[in-house]
Amino acid sequence: MSTPTTEVHNATEQQVLPTGRAVTKQLIVQKFGGSSVSDAAGVKRVAKRVVDAQAAGNEVVVVVSAMGDTTDELLDLASQVTDSAPAREMDMLLSAGERISMALLAMAINKLGASAQSFTGSQAGMITDGIHGKARIIDVDPHRIRTALDKGNIAIVAGFQGMSRTTNEITTLGRGGSDTTAVALAAALEADVCEIYTDVDGIYTADPRVVPSAQKIDTISSEEMLELAASGAKILHLRCVEYARRFGVPLHVRSSFSQHEGTWVIPSAEDKITTQEGVALEQPIISGVAHDRSEAKVTVVGVPDIPGKAAAIFQVIADAHSNIDMIVQNVSTHGTGRTDISFTLPIVEGADALAALHAAHDQIGFETIEYNEQIGKLSLIGAGMRSHPGVSATFFKALSDAGININMISTSEIRISVVTHADLLDEAVRVIHNAFDLDSDSEATVYGGTGR
Ligand code: ASP
Ligand code: MG
Repeated sequence: MSTPTTEVHNATEQQVLPTGRAVTKQLIVQKFGGSSVSDAAGVKRVAKRVVDAQAAGNEVVVVVSAMGDTTDELLDLASQVTDSAPAREMDMLLSAGERISMALLAMAINKLGASAQSFTGSQAGMITDGIHGKARIIDVDPHRIRTALDKGNIAIVAGFQGMSRTTNEITTLGRGGSDTTAVALAAALEADVCEIYTDVDGIYTADPRVVPSAQKIDTISSEEMLELAASGAKILHLRCVEYARRFGVPLHVRSSFSQHEGTWVIPSAEDKITTQEGVALEQPIISGVAHDRSEAKVTVVGVPDIPGKAAAIFQVIADAHSNIDMIVQNVSTHGTGRTDISFTLPIVEGADALAALHAAHDQIGFETIEYNEQIGKLSLIGAGMRSHPGVSATFFKALSDAGININMISTSEIRISVVTHADLLDEAVRVIHNAFDLDSDSEATVYGGTGR
């Protein structure tokens, strides 16, 4: 299909190339994930792509992730040294991964005859709060990037990191945070587009590593993309989608290994989505299926069924800085005056949350706590659910036909999520993908990466 246009255009101006061809000069932010720069060959391939974008008459800012699985390897290393790394040192360690790739990419671009300069997050003006490991961007001051562009340079920025003005410390934005760096820079520089380059051709109706027949989505609203990202689709960092929506940055998710048109994430429903031929694109009822293996289920058993107990439990969890996802409270077992409350949270936050609950045992008065990491969450997402009846019926019938037992259910206006046993999750994803006719005839291409 041809490129959809949105009404967001800022820095665009006419320019005449040395060949005499008049082109529209755009400011493009390109972000390359770890699998796109996993080795020297990858760095050189990306360098060529970046140089081509500049040679076509654009101003180009590049955000890079750490090479391949570097971040995971650094985490493994740290865990071999200590089981209680100070959060500050963890950020010093992890931010090094992106410094390696940014410098190598700048070298590769210079070797090709174009000029590039690399910048750490703090040099690029990424100002965050002081929370190590999951810092939030509070300001972007890209004047050094702007100057580099004005001098005809390509600016390379280390993703996933920033600096706090209050603590003067280096911070990181949380796993997958380079996407958010790219969008924040695109917003601050008023870029025309933020291109997110990855190892598949765009956003698919399901993870092509689990469902090979998944289809590439041409355009998706940021509302649906937010639900997909929040439901575990790792293709885009959740905060990157939030940021893009808030600042109206059009996102184009595509492969760095092919020239195919990817998926456009359209910032707001009001933006007219039309192809270059002027055809309005209609949104499908269902946009996709996401899955998530990163959560655990906690059941607080035998909670006194009186007002204030749920509030007490969730206050304890909040004080432990845990992010709760699904919550289910059962009706109280007849005659006992006690009930069970279950919820899910990220596995990485499980230990702290359990310790906090046990510490509050006397205050809450529960009987026991059950903890289960062998769960998986599946979510079906589609803006059309609002106006199309029968989606839930099809959804639950498909799971029941496949004999898949459901543990928990939650919904939003445009999402249905269930928790199943971890071992059944992949099968459940394929069953639901098929039940909503999302399968394509051909297999999706996964160009690289381990999906780790
Ligand atoms: N390198 C970081 C990570 O692996 C950030 C990113 O890739 O976006 O999470
Ligand atoms: Mg990523």
